[in-house]
Amino acid sequence: MKIGFIGLGNMGAPMAANLAAAGHQVTGFDTAAPEPEGVTAAASAAEAARDADVVITMLPNGQILRSVAAQVIPAMPAGAVLCDCSTVDVDSARAVAEQARAAGLGALDAPVSGGIGGAQAGTLTFMVGGVGADFARVAPLFEVMGQKAVHCGDSGAGQAAKICNNMILGVTMIATCEAFALADRLGLDRQKMFDVVSTSSGYSWSMNAYCPAPGVGPVSPADNGYKPGFASELMLKDLNLSQQAASSAGAETPMGALARQLYEDFVEREDGRGRDFSAMLSRFVGHMP
Ligand code: NAD
Repeated sequence: MKIGFIGLGNMGAPMAANLAAAGHQVTGFDTAAPEPEGVTAAASAAEAARDADVVITMLPNGQILRSVAAQVIPAMPAGAVLCDCSTVDVDSARAVAEQARAAGLGALDAPVSGGIGGAQAGTLTFMVGGVGADFARVAPLFEVMGQKAVHCGDSGAGQAAKICNNMILGVTMIATCEAFALADRLGLDRQKMFDVVSTSSGYSWSMNAYCPAPGVGPVSPADNGYKPGFASELMLKDLNLSQQAASSAGAETPMGALARQLYEDFVEREDGRGRDFSAMLSRFVGHMP
């Protein structure tokens, strides 16, 4: 396929490189980053979109997505599909999809989980909103860039799934960290705490797969000085999006609200910026664990 790829940062560059390596013809554009291997450089987003069967965007936020969409939609040939893989607010995802459809194009919101490692290895999970026919057309590309793609529903459903998942992740990580801090105070050995909780009803991905306590459980960023992994500021971004969605949809999310506040304190007023989101443990134990 002919693919236009806009946004060649930490995630976009390896995703575009994997598509090129699989034999697709990829033309890329980024305002800052250099073109990855196998990707032809375009002078503008519109130029990258011209003649494309599918245009993929991987951008920082909804505002930038809206401005890039305004440039690429008029340039795309009729029947092509605009597939946004960024994590953005549900309202921007729906607005861009509507604009694309009005111009005779297909549109998908397809945010990912799996991080930079997953982007490089081609093992991302895609959660996708849009109509089934568009999903089917882009599915072969999801197969190259990832290991799983779930069609979640209409436009916005992919972003909805992503922020609901990450709201649970933020809340359970904080709960796991505060429980470890309480266990410390009670003189309970961290390994024993892990052995019990990871096989009891308190288990979660945060405890079992990504344990915030160093030296306990499988290897995680805690064992690597809390180098991300998934940086605290990206968790804050996603918790801001889930709270924005909750207030626009009228949903009550008190735990999500508190998690958002704690990650904002951690990133903006404490020492969380640039550290993995599991470094939240140090906040509760009062010193570096
Ligand atoms: P990044 O900042 O490394 O990449 C974004 C790229 O977009 C940059 O290279 C930037 O120059 C480019 N860009 C900005 N404005 C542009 C414009 N107008 N036209 C063209 N290019 C433009 O960010 P990233 O880590 O690659 O993340 C991209 C998206 O993926 C974000 O929405 C993020 O939330 C999401 N995401 C990231 C991760 C992760 O672990 N990094 C995991 C899941 C989802």
